[in-house]
Amino acid sequence: TPVIVAIDGPSGTGKSSTSKAVAAQLGLSYLDTGAQYRAITWWMVTNGIDTADPSAIAAAAGKPEILSGTDPEKPAITVDGVDVAGPIREQEVTSKVSAVSAVPEVRTRITELQRSIAASAVTGIVVEGRDIGTTVLPDADLKIFLTASPEARAARRSGELKGADLQATREALVKRDAADSSRKTSPLAKADDAVEVDTTDLTLQQVIECVVTLVEE
Ligand code: C5P
Repeated sequence: TPVIVAIDGPSGTGKSSTSKAVAAQLGLSYLDTGAQYRAITWWMVTNGIDTADPSAIAAAAGKPEILSGTDPEKPAITVDGVDVAGPIREQEVTSKVSAVSAVPEVRTRITELQRSIAASAVTGIVVEGRDIGTTVLPDADLKIFLTASPEARAARRSGELKGADLQATREALVKRDAADSSRKTSPLAKADDAVEVDTTDLTLQQVIECVVTLVEE
């Protein structure tokens, strides 16, 4: 039977790099659920929907068609046929994605999409996000919850940035995690049966090996 791996945690813990590498090594599909929330946020912004108005977001939540590729070597994401892999990483989307993804109608829609993608994976799938182990795929074969200190997370996110840029990145990241953790509908949370891995002092390679070992056990 296909193996289902859920990898959750806040931003900057190495979720994406780890999930892609584990999927590639084990011949599994890969799904970046954050990219789906970013994609629907991009569509809201592009179509002039006020992202501070939950009822406007709710009313539009069913409109965009979001397609996710599941190849870990080349993850793809389109909205209404437009490749949005670049635009969804921009600052405006990043600053608005927490508000959009807190709207229950958005979560219902995206969660359905995620479950149907996971159900169609032939060998299995690594799904990364915030609520995969708790809400989307509570029956996953393995649940991982990645953590790291705020300093380590900001440093990873900003790459070579120093000083004020690093500080700003850290503040934005902490703010987004707080919003994601405090929303009412399926917040960022560790499932009771998840294995917590603190990546602060681990290299990416060590985290990958740790997760691969857990999948193979
Ligand atoms: O993983 P990434 O940082 O790209 O996720 C962007 C945002 O999407 C998160 O900050 C969160 O607001 C939302 N998200 C979510 N549930 C998930 C994955 C992401 O609410 N499963």
